[in-house]
Amino acid sequence: MRIAYPFSAIVGQDEMKLALLLAATDQGIGGVMVFGDRGTGKSTAVRALAALLPPIAVSKGCAFHCDPKDGARRCVGDCGTARTRRSAQSELMSTPVVDLPLGATEDRVVGALDLELALTRGEKRFEPGLLARAHRGFLYIDEVNLLEDHLVDLLIDVAASGVNLVEREGLSVRHPARFVLVGSGNPEEGDLRPQLLDRFGLSVEIRTPKDLEQRIEIVRRRDAFERNAAAFIDLWKRQETQLRRRIVAARTQLSRVEISDEALKWAARLCMGVGTDGLRGELTLARAARALAALRGRRQVQSDDLMDMAPAALRHRLRRDPMDETGSSARIERAMRQQEAALA
Ligand SMILES: [Zn+2]
Repeated sequence: MRIAYPFSAIVGQDEMKLALLLAATDQGIGGVMVFGDRGTGKSTAVRALAALLPPIAVSKGCAFHCDPKDGARRCVGDCGTARTRRSAQSELMSTPVVDLPLGATEDRVVGALDLELALTRGEKRFEPGLLARAHRGFLYIDEVNLLEDHLVDLLIDVAASGVNLVEREGLSVRHPARFVLVGSGNPEEGDLRPQLLDRFGLSVEIRTPKDLEQRIEIVRRRDAFERNAAAFIDLWKRQETQLRRRIVAARTQLSRVEISDEALKWAARLCMGVGTDGLRGELTLARAARALAALRGRRQVQSDDLMDMAPAALRHRLRRDPMDETGSSARIERAMRQQEAALA
């Protein structure tokens, strides 16, 4: 296994790092869409975060790495029947990160009949796909805008339901598939369908850093890591441990963080002001602000939690306004200022 670069050592790209942290704190936020230049360390950041997260307990030997404590969501395979036994045995594994390559076939993604076994022994057995491997982890798709439409639809369905259902060749398999979808795309190459974008909880924009000092620091750290990974990891160990503790604490506190009616009203007004379609915008904004408040150790969502999350929760849900060519982020900033002025 490749050694992951420490998450805390990533220079800049704060919006992307925060969005990933929030998605790891509350999977229900939905995935993260990263717009931006190539070679800006998107994949590195996802891998770094997964390596930072505490290991997960899984049912021993289960190909779907079911949660042994979650009887309702176990697969119908071996550990489904183990439910009737007193307790399923468990083991630890690190949070999975699965790459979905652009040329992947549907069989490879959802899983398929194990053909070799079927032909040699006449047995029907399910060969799990990438969705099974990504369960309880991250599914990363580089250049998601170039993915075939039918795969996109399929991913959207599974991401929404948390279940992968495969029915074909006399097979009927259903297994849990909950993952944080992380997509990256360059808006200049191929259109991103609004339906696809809307499925991502948050979207962030990253750019090649223009700051000289920052660029030098990136190269310096990268070089130190490549020369001696163990020593570099040791150097960042304390920060990594602190961040891990913050995520674990935020996950436990999450359900106790209050969000006031005033805060919900603020979010709804903002969404009306910028003109988002449907209600997913304010739902995501409220949820992301709550996760951020939890990460900040707060018991109640405050206005800066909402304001900090508004661009990432809303910018990919704005209707195109032919009369207004201002960028999405600028439109959100403007609407926030107008709302502030109205309240003052
Ligand atoms: Zn299982």
